[in-house]
Amino acid sequence: MYEKKCACCGRTYTAKTSRSKYCCNACRSLDHYRKKRDAEKYGRHIKRVPQTPIYISVPKVEEPMPIPTSITKESVAHGVTALRGDAAFFDAAAQRGPVDYRDVCGEISRGVLNVLGRYGL
Ligand SMILES: [Zn+2]
Repeated sequence: MYEKKCACCGRTYTAKTSRSKYCCNACRSLDHYRKKRDAEKYGRHIKRVPQTPIYISVPKVEEPMPIPTSITKESVAHGVTALRGDAAFFDAAAQRGPVDYRDVCGEISRGVLNVLGRYGL
């Protein structure tokens, strides 16, 4: 048994495992909801710090933006703007990216711009 402080309400409780973080299921889901809400509010994903460091050999890739719960015309327009930026990146990558990636990058760029163009976006 472990004496722990709840990560949500701050109460001290007795945990069965050392990895336990919450005093009850209500606190677990409330904290999860808050983190999700904050991620939407601030536009970034709040990551949990892993217990042991994870070493990876691939370059760090940014996590995609969390998908908002309500999708409006404005958020679609925002997505289109982001997509245009991505298409420009893939176009540049098709010209001067790693040689074996150029074909796929060109195809992604042309595909995205083609779809946006068809809908006048
Ligand atoms: Zn609690």
